[in-house]
Amino acid sequence: MNSSPMRRLRLTWGGATDQGRIRANNQDAMYADPGLFVVADGMGGHQGGEVAANLAVRTIANAERSDREQLREAITEANRVVHQTALEEPELHGMGTTLTTLAVSQEVDSHQFVILNVGDSRVYRHRDGELEQLTEDHSYVAELVRRGELDDQAAEVHPYRNMLTRAIGVHAEVEIDEWLLEPVAGDRFMLCSDGLTNEVADLEIAEQLGLGQDPGTTAKALVGLANKRGGRDNSTVLIVDVQVELIDSDETNQSPETEEFQDPISSPPHEANISLGGLEDLSDRSEQTSNMKERSWLYDRVHIKLGAVIISLVLLLTSAAMVTTIGWYARSSYHVGIVANHVVIQKGVIGGLLWFEPTLEQWTDIQTTHLTEEDRQRLVDGEQMTDLDNAKTFVANLRTRLVKGVDGS
Ligand code: MN
Repeated sequence: MNSSPMRRLRLTWGGATDQGRIRANNQDAMYADPGLFVVADGMGGHQGGEVAANLAVRTIANAERSDREQLREAITEANRVVHQTALEEPELHGMGTTLTTLAVSQEVDSHQFVILNVGDSRVYRHRDGELEQLTEDHSYVAELVRRGELDDQAAEVHPYRNMLTRAIGVHAEVEIDEWLLEPVAGDRFMLCSDGLTNEVADLEIAEQLGLGQDPGTTAKALVGLANKRGGRDNSTVLIVDVQVELIDSDETNQSPETEEFQDPISSPPHEANISLGGLEDLSDRSEQTSNMKERSWLYDRVHIKLGAVIISLVLLLTSAAMVTTIGWYARSSYHVGIVANHVVIQKGVIGGLLWFEPTLEQWTDIQTTHLTEEDRQRLVDGEQMTDLDNAKTFVANLRTRLVKGVDGS
């Protein structure tokens, strides 16, 4: 130990989760210990979502996870466990869960925060009154926004805004997003499920986080706000406050709060404040639970894909049919017109249709100079005929009206 001041990381946290006012059960899960904070939002019919979220959280909580490699491996393992269980249990088939974690990670020379994310639960950082979403949602709509095909306003009301593109347990493998952050004193992190962010605007969340109340009270207030705004989904909020203290190295050995992490950073495990369960009077919610559909990652996704395929197939068939009809019409009819100053009978429609250009059916020796002004005008525009006989009759009649003396007729 040397005499230079050391940094001690002190974390204070509190969380709240609620099933909301409509859902029959709470498929969100959360977990907090001095070095790991997790929010998971399960999905899948019946008990699937609940099982997936809790299985994933439990797997990570029980894993070795002192650095980010181990954390990644823990999440990969969680994916494996959820996926395997879903395969083995028919009633759990297709279950999955989002998973967002903020963890203290032992890196080469210091402790850092590592954020790992799969799905559309989020980690925010509140700093100097500003709220910043640190994670990227793995959702269809977020993907469209990132590609510039949808703006934020349209995304908020998009019918597929709950459709995930990535989740834990859905496939045998999962890609995990990762961010590494330096602990900064005064930062307040918030992990939450979409049940909060779909009901409460960022501005209002920032306002709550900025009130300076302790994490537990703030988390409760936010979940309460989600319920007040509709509570259409389970909502979960986990808040972690960061304090960094400079201390003398002598002190580190005396502190009872340095057990969890060795120097230079430590964290007291004594300030946990996790509150579970209802926060408001939600006595009327039982009536609203039965006909609410659960969100399902797998099935939503499959439906969309099938829908798109069916729609494009129908479009394709329709246009094929249209082209055939147009082709038949374009080819089966005739018109009388002028080509190179001669009256001709053409197969096809005047001017053509799509790529069906008229073709020359019969050349005549009648020139435009033989025609009366009236006939000439008609043929410059073209005279549409229903069939070849009509066209021939028209030309025969035309001959009787030719301007005399021009030709040898
Ligand atoms: Mn949700």
